Amino acid sequence: MLGIILHALIVVILTLLTQIGGLAYLVALAASRAWGIRRFLAKLTIFLLCYVGASLAAGLAAPKFGRVPLSCMASTTDRLVVRSPIYCLLNRNYVRPEVRDLAKALAAHMDEEFPGTVTTALDANFPFVNGFPLLPHLSHADGKKLDFAYYYKDADGTFLNGVTRSPIGYFAFEEPAPGDELPCQGRHDWLTTRWDFDALQPLFPAYRIEEQRTSAAVRWLTSEGVARFGLEKIFIEPHLKNALGITDSHVRFQGCRAARHDDHIHIQVE
Ligand SMILES: [Zn+2]
Repeated sequence: MLGIILHALIVVILTLLTQIGGLAYLVALAASRAWGIRRFLAKLTIFLLCYVGASLAAGLAAPKFGRVPLSCMASTTDRLVVRSPIYCLLNRNYVRPEVRDLAKALAAHMDEEFPGTVTTALDANFPFVNGFPLLPHLSHADGKKLDFAYYYKDADGTFLNGVTRSPIGYFAFEEPAPGDELPCQGRHDWLTTRWDFDALQPLFPAYRIEEQRTSAAVRWLTSEGVARFGLEKIFIEPHLKNALGITDSHVRFQGCRAARHDDHIHIQVE
């Protein structure tokens, strides 16, 4: 009985984390049983083979269901990169073709305006099923959503190309200055993904947002992005939006129950 609960728990966790990992686990479990395999390492190897096989198959099958993977294998000439291979290993890099085209066009524009600049994508969506969220992003469930990293500079003001403050691009927050607009101040929601991770903050390098590039990216998104790719909204934390002087109505506040958006930019298309 305990064994069944443990297997079920692993299936649930793998499914939430990677969408197809739970299925790969069940197939590996069945194969191990059928072949009478007992050793842990052998079972783990079978699971990894099933998982890699399922991930490769997902990459081939997803376009038939309307989603394409952003590549984690960027070459030195690519101007759009996914922050870490982990995103692709966990199948978190799928978008609808128009979102991929938007991301590539944004990266190309940034490279044109600021030669050599790399644009960094973060969490996208899983390969299949509308309505299946990519946790903890509840809305990343239809291929129309994508997160980008901000552009950063070091303490001396030198631009840091393709660099983020946190190793995965998330959770290194820009802290608002005294007097900034704080729409969630004083709220204590328990059902929220607005985590502050205060204990982590001192661990991240003290880079700051590179305003020129970040503003240029938002300008492009709210003009070309809207006109050519059907961009619907952008989420940026209000204190950053104000600091960057952004007034465009496509740039909104995500609400207090959603994650903070002063560590990443969220975009979605119609
Ligand atoms: Zn997002």
